[in-house]
Amino acid sequence: MSRLVAGIGELVTNDASLGDGPLGLLSDAALVVVDGTVVWVGPEAAAPDADTRIAVGGRAVLPGFVDSHAHLVFAGDRAGEFEARMSGARYDGGGIGTTVAATRAASDGELRDRLRGLVAEMRRQGTTTVEVKSGYGLTVEDEVRSLRLAAEVTAETTFLGAHVVPAEYRGRSDKYVDLVTGPMLAACAPHARWADVFCEPGSAHAFDGDQARAVLEAGRAAGLGLRVHANQLTAGPGVRLAVELDAASADHCTHLGAADVDALAGGTTVATLLPGVEFSTRSPYPDARRLLDAGVTVALATDCNPGSCFTSSMAFCIALAVREMRMTPAEAVWAATAGGATALRRTDVGRLVPGARADLAVIDAPSYRHLAYRPGVPLVRALELPA
Ligand SMILES: [Zn+2]
Repeated sequence: MSRLVAGIGELVTNDASLGDGPLGLLSDAALVVVDGTVVWVGPEAAAPDADTRIAVGGRAVLPGFVDSHAHLVFAGDRAGEFEARMSGARYDGGGIGTTVAATRAASDGELRDRLRGLVAEMRRQGTTTVEVKSGYGLTVEDEVRSLRLAAEVTAETTFLGAHVVPAEYRGRSDKYVDLVTGPMLAACAPHARWADVFCEPGSAHAFDGDQARAVLEAGRAAGLGLRVHANQLTAGPGVRLAVELDAASADHCTHLGAADVDALAGGTTVATLLPGVEFSTRSPYPDARRLLDAGVTVALATDCNPGSCFTSSMAFCIALAVREMRMTPAEAVWAATAGGATALRRTDVGRLVPGARADLAVIDAPSYRHLAYRPGVPLVRALELPA
């Protein structure tokens, strides 16, 4: 069964060989989908015949967002912590322990309902691929449980046993790293594609450079790809460690020295910026312009989590990136789609080209520019193609 999606006023392909500019823009475009895969893209006037036709009425269509950084397996609510922060309290990562306690106490059903609800909420806002981390269990059993649940909704599962040092290991973080790199990793690796660590010597709750290296090297030895929570609160060693170990992504990148930018520019590690965190913690934004001008590949993601940033909206992150980080609308849209895919080392999503997955998002507007131009307006959603 072939389906023609027609009446696309503006199509973002993210392939410069198919259309104009880095977004590969086409006007009055169409595409053909067979069995969930794009098989043809081009001007509607040249479209081949198909079994069925779906018209989108001149709207803009883009690849579904690829949200490459999210923490969706959790219980509880930290709205009070947010209110305190907005009243002047400082964010240091310590509130994660609150979510750990609630998550451990929750049933599988409660965690599953919350997780599925958030994935559906994302899809309604145009996100069609999401990475989901563990990291609120922090025991062998609870980390395995988190990853099993995450694997029900995505292939992009990330073992984040090294999220924070749990309360029962306070003052004994090296012992906790032994657990993470030993029995916990062994039990979790079969359920994970990636390993991640919160490398932040500036936080009493997170992990220093040596500990982060131990976690990442163990993850790599277990066959996992690598990602790093790096340089969020201080210009620590996380970014350079990520590049040295060829991590797919260094995430946050809020505080960077010249050596960090040089390292990113010289490697294949994507800089994934999470401006919703800076918004929600009232912190200075990363310098996206400096990274882009240095030739670094930049992705945007939500970091959706109950503490430092509880948005699921990639469009909101695009608006922040444009308004607060001086990315152009085109750069921000690329970063939220093809950039996220690159951060997950995927070529089948984030682009609308023959052979890619038919993960389409449609904007109730004539152009991708409206995602930043009309902040907070629910214009974009995943396009549901009938089975
Ligand atoms: Zn995170």
